[in-house]
Amino acid sequence: MTYFLIALASILAVLLFLQQKRTASNIRRLSEAMRKHDRQLLGGGRFHRSTDAFRTLEREIFEQLFESESLEQKISRREDLITTVVEGLSDAILVFDWEMKIRFTNRSACKLFNWNSPPLDRHVKECIRDPKLLEAFENAVTHHQQATFEITHQIPGSESITPLTLEVDVAPLTSTESHSVTRARAVLHDITESRTLDQVRRDFVANASHELRTPLTIINGYLENLEESRISDRDSSIRFISVMHKHGKRIARIIEDMLTISKLESRTQEAIQCTSFNFLHFAQEVIDRLKPMFDEKKATYTLDIKPEASINGDTFYWDQILFNLIENALKENDAGALSITVGLEHRETTDIITVTDDGVGIPATAQEFIFKRFYRVDQNRGSEKKGTGLGLSIVKRAVEAHGGEIDVQSTPGVETTFAITLPRQKELARQS
Ligand code: ATP
Ligand code: MG
Repeated sequence: MTYFLIALASILAVLLFLQQKRTASNIRRLSEAMRKHDRQLLGGGRFHRSTDAFRTLEREIFEQLFESESLEQKISRREDLITTVVEGLSDAILVFDWEMKIRFTNRSACKLFNWNSPPLDRHVKECIRDPKLLEAFENAVTHHQQATFEITHQIPGSESITPLTLEVDVAPLTSTESHSVTRARAVLHDITESRTLDQVRRDFVANASHELRTPLTIINGYLENLEESRISDRDSSIRFISVMHKHGKRIARIIEDMLTISKLESRTQEAIQCTSFNFLHFAQEVIDRLKPMFDEKKATYTLDIKPEASINGDTFYWDQILFNLIENALKENDAGALSITVGLEHRETTDIITVTDDGVGIPATAQEFIFKRFYRVDQNRGSEKKGTGLGLSIVKRAVEAHGGEIDVQSTPGVETTFAITLPRQKELARQS
């Protein structure tokens, strides 16, 4: 009996020992699974032999881990999405902490400040020089102030001479947990283009009003004289009427040119109606219309165009292009031995149309401006030479409407060439 009791006690002791060992191993497994956030360590839900209480605990932990895992996945997916969106923004974004150390910058910010990689953990003063920006950053973190303002910014290392105009919005960031301000953010939005457009619009209105006002003032002056009958003889009256007529035509031409530009800028389908036409005949017709000017300037011309050569384009605009380029060469030069050449060269995928003269030329400093509306090289020239400065701007827009480009090369006193590169018919069809 005693032996039996001893044996039973030994068996119970061994069982108890095994149970404890299993419990200890289960606890280790559970704590490891929780520490590593790993459901696999629990056997994927297939529970080991253990007590009911343990099984319940194990199931609880398994489900918790399952939930937290899917939560982690959700958070990570959200983070990925936010990063993709923020990185892809064209606006530059910067986040910095209360010590003014940079915590986040997106790709656009790196481009704007010419950083090879985000300068994380660096003080903003080491990376940004603009005093207005730095002041706003400081105010955001120390006084929790929000600010919106504009700055001009030159990208470090950039060769562009015109700085960018940036709209900056700096604001403190409040932590959702502590409800305190620990960080601030800045958004920098490039508004250079819209500011330039505003300026172009303002210049256009000012220039157009100025150009229209001059002939109108002249016409009104003569009309007042006629009205007050200060001009008695018929000859003077006829002369004044002819001056008024000339200025009236000038006003009509300015308005006509402005309408042409606006039509070309509207980029409507009907703006360009292309046909194939013989370029030699076409150029000859334009020159014939300018014959009085050729005679007056004692100028000569050469057509370097093969008899059968044709181009594809809208003849209404090609007339304006050629007329203005040849008229410019004649108008800008005093009477003398001026020679003008119109050429056409067919290349593999393009046609090159050139108008060359050997006159006074265009100074290098003016060459980048001549295609702008109302720009004239010498604004104070004699009135007989005076144009409106709209011609080349129409030429450029008309060439671009054909998918082409225009370029000028000029060595004053030697040679001036306007060269138009026009995609061939096939290329044009592919573009549209
Ligand atoms: P518009 O053509 O409207 O009557 P415009 O001839 O003055 O006026 P554009 O045709 O736009 O205006 O030309 C702009 C300026 O470029 C001219 O005023 C002239 O100063 C300069 N220019 C253009 N072509 C030549 C050229 N071949 N030689 C010298 N200067 C030129
Ligand atoms: Mg002109």
